Amino acid sequence: MPVQPDPSYVGRFAPSPTGPLHFGSFVAALASWLDARAAGGRWLLRIEDLDRPRVRSDAASRILTQLEAAGLHWDAEVVWQSRRLDLYRQALERLSSMDATYWCACTRKEIADSAITPDGAGVYAGTCRAGFPRGKSPRAIRLKTVPERIVFDDRLQGTISQSVEREVGDFVAYRADGTFAYQLAVVVDDAEQGVTDVVRGADLIDSTPRQIHLQRLLGLPRPRYLHVPVAVTATGEKLSKQKHAAEGSSRDLRAALAFLGQAAPAGMADAELLNWAAGAWNPGAIPRRRTISASAAARSP
Ligand code: GLU
Repeated sequence: MPVQPDPSYVGRFAPSPTGPLHFGSFVAALASWLDARAAGGRWLLRIEDLDRPRVRSDAASRILTQLEAAGLHWDAEVVWQSRRLDLYRQALERLSSMDATYWCACTRKEIADSAITPDGAGVYAGTCRAGFPRGKSPRAIRLKTVPERIVFDDRLQGTISQSVEREVGDFVAYRADGTFAYQLAVVVDDAEQGVTDVVRGADLIDSTPRQIHLQRLLGLPRPRYLHVPVAVTATGEKLSKQKHAAEGSSRDLRAALAFLGQAAPAGMADAELLNWAAGAWNPGAIPRRRTISASAAARSP
């Protein structure tokens, strides 16, 4: 069943310009665009270019070209995170003024010796929570987590529950290289841009409880979440931005729609595809999985 029109809906796509969109990120862009259009809402584009060592200089313009080629038009000026550092600084200052943060002097190697979190990093044991050892220098700023589990209902994946304290540990809000962390920036931006609906890849679902923790601390509203499956290779690895770049062609569009369980009726002309898909958008038909092998859909080199 198509969703009910909701003109207050604000969606967004927030790619990191570390390379062109690959089939998996194209799927995420398409899903969030369709969800916004089907709701009669607005769709914003935010370039998450804070992670300078990983940003590639031509990637953002390639992403914009890919989206335009596919007909995924956005509704306001593109927002660049690198131009909004003051917002993140203010949020961090608020958090430290409420004693929700602390400086951490641990090195990557010291942390790597701990257990592994869902997204592959070490669980931080809270070593510097009560102050860092003499003779060590502060490197990063961490957020204090709390024992309470964070529970939210994902529109596709169902109820998600995580103890951020136990499964992730106190997490970084300001990195040792002087960069505001993704978790902080994404929460500040989604609220500042009035985003009501986050539709993105399920590789980020384990980050969502951290983001909800931050929303609570900062008194920000919680958007609805829909985490779509992520395209992986036949052997379960992430697609590479270089090897599996999407073009935004109608072939990509058909493959992405099929991946999302919204296969177009036989014989539909390329020019009709996107309009049809927005009208027929049925989130309930998306496979309820976190990853799907896209070897058939994603072109190999
Ligand atoms: N910039 C993140 C990425 O490209 C996505 C952030 C988000 O959608 O919350 O993986």
